[in-house]
Amino acid sequence: MRTASCPQCGQPSVLEPSNPWRPFCSERCKFVDLDGWFTGRYTIPGPEQMPPDEDEH
Ligand SMILES: [Zn+2]
Repeated sequence: MRTASCPQCGQPSVLEPSNPWRPFCSERCKFVDLDGWFTGRYTIPGPEQMPPDEDEH
């Protein structure tokens, strides 16, 4: 049985079809993680800001 650390709580999580919440260990962890996304706890890196065009040659 393949397991990995739950990204949310670090507990062993089963990476099998029997675990509908994989890679999370449980529904709770999955939704906690989603909540983090929705509330902006995580930020998605946007396109890199172009540096100011200081070179006017
Ligand atoms: Zn977990």
